[in-house]
Amino acid sequence: MNTISESDIQPGNRVIIRSSLNVSLNNDGQIVDDLRLRRITDTIDIVISAGGMPILISHIKNDQGSTMKPVVNWFKEFGYNTILISDYYPFDELKNNFLPNTVYVFENLRDYPGEKNNEESFTTDLAKYGDVYINESFDAAHRAHASTVALPKLLPSFVGLNFAAEVFELSKVFEPDRPFTFIIGGAKIETKAPLIRKLLEKADKVFVGGALMNPLLAARGINVGNSKMPEVDIDVSDIAASEKLVLPIDFIDQNRDVVTIDQISDDTQLLDVGPDSTAQLLELISTSKLVVWNGPLGLYEQGYVDSTDAVAQTLSQSDCYSIIGGGDTLAAVDDAVEQGINWISTGGGAMLDFIESDGDLPAIKALQ
Ligand code: ADP
Ligand code: MG
Repeated sequence: MNTISESDIQPGNRVIIRSSLNVSLNNDGQIVDDLRLRRITDTIDIVISAGGMPILISHIKNDQGSTMKPVVNWFKEFGYNTILISDYYPFDELKNNFLPNTVYVFENLRDYPGEKNNEESFTTDLAKYGDVYINESFDAAHRAHASTVALPKLLPSFVGLNFAAEVFELSKVFEPDRPFTFIIGGAKIETKAPLIRKLLEKADKVFVGGALMNPLLAARGINVGNSKMPEVDIDVSDIAASEKLVLPIDFIDQNRDVVTIDQISDDTQLLDVGPDSTAQLLELISTSKLVVWNGPLGLYEQGYVDSTDAVAQTLSQSDCYSIIGGGDTLAAVDDAVEQGINWISTGGGAMLDFIESDGDLPAIKALQ
């Protein structure tokens, strides 16, 4: 895997940058979190200063649809001369008409079925636009799509600065400074169980909160009342049996009261990690050298945020090396607090798959 610094981009080169422009919007159509856009500007600048023409291709989907218009506005406000290309076709007219000092943004890549289906004809068409390929989309690296695995085979291919940094930072999990604590929350045990198993190998302690704690508590014989349980039948008894697993011992229920394990009744919903367990977790953080965290520890959208806030605050001030990631995790953590975290992954699902697969993601393989 070569990085953009080895790319030798020449003046006039058209540089296709597979990007992560998939931002979410609020009800007013404003971009909620521009982290992914801020992370791509260094790579764009390298291309422009070498005299190349950056051509950004990315998927996007949010509550307002799947247009790149808000992204294009963001790039304009950032200071780039930016042009939206609403149609990939006709290639022949377009492909020789790119101007220097301009950022080109193609409309949603996934509007074309050839992208997800990884179709050869679509890939060859895309390749006509570029002389060089840069992958700056770590968050799509776990997808074997035309733009992530096939296109790099047709052009000289490199990874962008953020992609390289994601790989470098997340690889710390494989040879961690110890003690290494992994904190995981969120909702879907079906998707996160393999990751938890992997981390039980790598980490010294794995703290599980969020709705993920419920099936594990149940597997340890604890009544979780009316709490959210997985919709599918899934055996997590091996995880529950691990001595490295740390589960909460107190909780916040649907009445916002603190409940301990022996106070749980059949109608109790466990919606956040309780204060004693949070204090234990903060203590664990204070003795850790590396902490990696994915997944809110409570139902944060409804204000069950105390344990999530406390962990975020503590991590941002702690001496340990801290890495966090996950769409909901970043939404739940304050931007100001994020400043103190050592690495914020833009990866989402790709971050989890990267760790679970020992770094062996389809897009990474395609670049080797
Ligand atoms: P991320 O996107 O950071 O990986 P997830 O998508 O796995 O996180 O999970 C986030 C969801 O988990 C949120 O909607 C959150 O409200 C929910 N959640 C967290 N804790 C609980 C809980 N105790 N009960 C129900 N839902 C929870
Ligand atoms: Mg999520």
